[in-house]
Amino acid sequence: MTVTTRFAPSPTGTLHVGNIRTALHNWLLAKKSGGRFLLRIDDTDAARSREEHVEAIRADLAWLGLHPEREERQSARFAIYEAAFEKLIAAGRLYRCYETAQELDLKRKVLLGRGLPPIYDRSALKLTEADHAARAAAGERPHWRFLLDHDAPIEWVDGIRGPQHFDPRQMSDPVVRRADGSWLYMLPSVIDDIEMGVTDVLRGEDHVSNTATQVQMFTALGAPVPRFAHEALLTGAEGKLSKRLGSLGVREMRENGIESEALIALLARLGTSDPVDPALDAEALAASFDLARFGRAPARFDDAELARVNAAVIHRLPFARVADRLPEGMGEAAWDAIRANLNTVAEAAEWWRVVTGPVDAPEFDAETRAFLDQAAGLTAALEWVEDPWGALTAALKETTGRKGKALFLPLRQALTGMDHGPDMKALLPLIGRDEAVKRLG
Ligand code: GLU
Repeated sequence: MTVTTRFAPSPTGTLHVGNIRTALHNWLLAKKSGGRFLLRIDDTDAARSREEHVEAIRADLAWLGLHPEREERQSARFAIYEAAFEKLIAAGRLYRCYETAQELDLKRKVLLGRGLPPIYDRSALKLTEADHAARAAAGERPHWRFLLDHDAPIEWVDGIRGPQHFDPRQMSDPVVRRADGSWLYMLPSVIDDIEMGVTDVLRGEDHVSNTATQVQMFTALGAPVPRFAHEALLTGAEGKLSKRLGSLGVREMRENGIESEALIALLARLGTSDPVDPALDAEALAASFDLARFGRAPARFDDAELARVNAAVIHRLPFARVADRLPEGMGEAAWDAIRANLNTVAEAAEWWRVVTGPVDAPEFDAETRAFLDQAAGLTAALEWVEDPWGALTAALKETTGRKGKALFLPLRQALTGMDHGPDMKALLPLIGRDEAVKRLG
């Protein structure tokens, strides 16, 4: 069976690094086996879902290069859910309940007070058809629970957490549908996973207990249970420190100069002890992606690490990938000369200004001034060959006896107005002979 994974965000907000990691890992898992990656918009909650978030999710995935093969929206699938719902009622796996939130809360408190687990007592199962009719006549509408099979222990081998066991008697029958007819997440997700042929469900460990009940839903609907894997949550990714990159949405990260390749390279390995590979191609990361490498301890998302990976990626990015973001006139040679000095692509503009000038050189003492005049004269006479910087500095060394910092620093300062920066060998040809003579003299 073709490996099929899905990313199932609820469009109630923008994607942050935790969601992106889930999306990426599902994508990698599918690509690794030549499988399919699907996008499912979980928008059954009409009040909280927003169209603008759906569009942002699509845009974010496109920017990351994680293209889904198919996109579905739960809000367009209610008829499918209805059919499965009827099937489960006929099989005796759904039952009607009327307890209010306050009543349920009270029941829980009583149980907890007695030192018992707060499991729903199934009292609604005792209602007769006459009771239901009476409630309907009084205008009451039921909510629906899924009847867990208490005799079927729940087990699966989690792709990350290993063997899992749950005793269904220790769990409440989950509510799957509200009194107003709206769906909770649990059952539609199972129905979709069956209908879309999802073979691997990879999601955060906050879903482990959902999986326990969903395993029984798959079986109740006569479908094989997919492979499940639950990832440890990211720490330092969300929360109070709102300036942190990890708390930002994808668009803001992009505006902060983060490259999609960097985000992908870091998130592909975060949670493993493997080194980050600043690969430029996500496909290359798929081959070595392995759920078994992921630990159960929470993984820490670190802004500084993202910044480091971002720089490493930029230092390798070819001109073609950045050309449309560079200043007018800045060509491939300039990019190749400058990229090793960048933390963000936007910084290229600052170095390009150094190339095009004018630059602000410091005041030099008389001796250095004389040396630079000599340099200007030599530059004017220099045959502008492949490596004018090598030729110029060799000639200057010979004639002035200067070497090391005394030779190189004043030249760099006069030519760029800076004490440090890209390799002068690459920079000087970009500055050009006439301009170099002007800056030196
Ligand atoms: N919409 C759910 C969520 O974002 C999907 C969980 C799942 O992957 O099944 O948590």
